[in-house]
Amino acid sequence: MLTTIVIASKNKGKIEEIKDILTDLPLEILSLNHYPSAPDVEENGGTFLENALLKGQAISDFTGMPVLADDSGLEVDYLGGEPGILSARYAGADATDEENNQKLLMALKDVPDPQRGATFRCALVLYLPHGEYQAFEGRWRGRIGDEFRGGYGFGYDPLFYLPDEGKTVAEITAVEKNKLSHRSQAVQELKKYLQGKFLLKN
Ligand code: IMP
Repeated sequence: MLTTIVIASKNKGKIEEIKDILTDLPLEILSLNHYPSAPDVEENGGTFLENALLKGQAISDFTGMPVLADDSGLEVDYLGGEPGILSARYAGADATDEENNQKLLMALKDVPDPQRGATFRCALVLYLPHGEYQAFEGRWRGRIGDEFRGGYGFGYDPLFYLPDEGKTVAEITAVEKNKLSHRSQAVQELKKYLQGKFLLKN
């Protein structure tokens, strides 16, 4: 039975979000904070899934453990899916969130509301040491606002407007975000998969 999983991330927010969702499963969940000498994996795949697989494989090879790896980003309809896998580097290799958001605002200058649709996407992979894997996906629809709103969150949150909530993601709390987000949707899918596995074994 799967008992220990390593999350291929050092990001405390991400690790807590995943742990919270999987909390009632009989799992020990570690992260890269337990493996300080783990390699930095270059995310040079062509899709979110490829990048998640690159990370999953490298960290599984290094740790010899089952690994959870994800890659996520923002796809804007009007920009044909950009910035996509380049979301973190949209305004340049070392771009800040602020610079990326400013570039996005400029790219959508004067674009009317109905054409400002966008999707946060997350590919999540459970990668096993002998090379088998299961992939899960989460998608979160919204609209790119025309001004920054809210102080919570990170990345494109202040521009990602949720019509159902009447707020941007930066205006909802982490607890609310973790129920709705693309990442949380993908982890919920993983949870269903793992619950099936545990039921089969019991
Ligand atoms: P990562 O896959 O978590 O490293 O995310 C890659 C990039 O996508 C981040 O640097 C952000 O620019 C963007 N991104 C991913 N998820 C979110 C989110 O939940 N809110 C805002 N931006 C996000």
